[in-house]
Parts: sequence; C-alpha cells; structure tokens
Amino acid sequence: MYDNGVDQLERKAADEAVKKAAKIFQNRPAFTLGNLVKVDGYEIPIDSLVQNSPILRQTAYGNQIDVDGVHSAVFNSKLHKNSPFIGVVLTSKDLTAKFGRNYLNFCFGYTFGDVTIQSVARFRDMSDKNRETMIEGVILHELGHVFHLAEDRNRSHTEYNLGMHCTNLGCVMNQGLTREAMLKHFKIAKKMGRIYCPQCMLETGSQN
Ligand SMILES: [Zn+2]
Ligand SMILES: [Zn+2]
Repeated sequence: MYDNGVDQLERKAADEAVKKAAKIFQNRPAFTLGNLVKVDGYEIPIDSLVQNSPILRQTAYGNQIDVDGVHSAVFNSKLHKNSPFIGVVLTSKDLTAKFGRNYLNFCFGYTFGDVTIQSVARFRDMSDKNRETMIEGVILHELGHVFHLAEDRNRSHTEYNLGMHCTNLGCVMNQGLTREAMLKHFKIAKKMGRIYCPQCMLETGSQN
C-alpha cells in the first residue's frame, strides 16, 4: 500500500523488493502492495490514515508522524485480519517511533507482527539509484523482521541494537542508524549478489 505522496520510482522499487521477498519467503502467500488496499470488500483508507495522524514535529523532511498510529490502524483492520498477506505500507511522511519513554529522532521503517511501515521521506534528496537501493533494502530489512531473522541469541553474528540485528557483512539485516550506514550495508549485499547473509537465509527456511 502506498499513500498518494509516494512517487512512481518509489512504487516500482517497493514492488521489486516485494517480488524478491516473495521468492525467499515461500511459506507465506505472495506479498502485495498496490492491490492490498481493497480485499474482499474491506478497504484501508491509507491516505486519510496518514493525513489524519497527529504531527509530532517538523523536520527537514516535512511533517513527522508517529508510525504507531498508521501501524495499529492497518494491523487491526478487518482487511488485514481477513487476509493472509503481510501488510507492507509505504508512506511519503517522515516517521518516528516511541522507544521506551521517548521518541526516536526518526525511523526508516517499523515492523510489528506481520505489518510493516516504511517511509521514503529521507531518501528524496539522494540519486535515483540510491533511492531505489534504499527503498528495496529497507523493505527487505523490515520483512526480515517479520520473519524474525537474526533474533536467535544462540547464533553468532547478532547484536541488540534497537531490536535484534545481524552483524554479518553483506546482509540487509545489519542495523544502520544513518541512511549512509544502511546504504553501505545494502550496497555490499548487492555487490555480493545476495540479500540476506547465509546465516539469515538459513532462518528464512528457503532452499534458494
Ligand atoms: Zn531493523
Ligand atoms: Zn544476516
């Protein structure tokens, strides 16, 4: 799903990411983005959800909203409850999330359960190529959280850093606290011709 502010390049990059994920996570029906807004007569008014979210603060990337409002509305919707699909929402609004008592300065994406929300707001001054890489990477990272990748504390190469993350080089499950750090992880993974590292791939249950 996208709100109306999400442009063509961003939609295309998101669709690509979802297609790639569908190949890896075959134990769930193919994810969809664009056509999830209306399923079996149920609809999620994604634009009004985003528009009606209270503005927490103004940032260099526009009005920032709390991701939890959009997330819980989608998560608790009849559409989502009645659908086997994983909810992937892309918004043009800058997002933040509460961590403990305080709000983070921002967040690129947020996942809880099988609904994940990503913002494209902070990638808009990057080159088209980097924007594509960031959107794809962030969606594949958040979908990795849906499937609990890198959460097993008994395995090696994990760390707790705003949630459990992978520390292997060339894995999109690496945590990047800045967009430059994330871009670096995504680029290395791409260069290595993969999305998740072998350890995380094992956890996907995929034979690919
Ligand atoms: Zn993460
Ligand atoms: Zn990994």
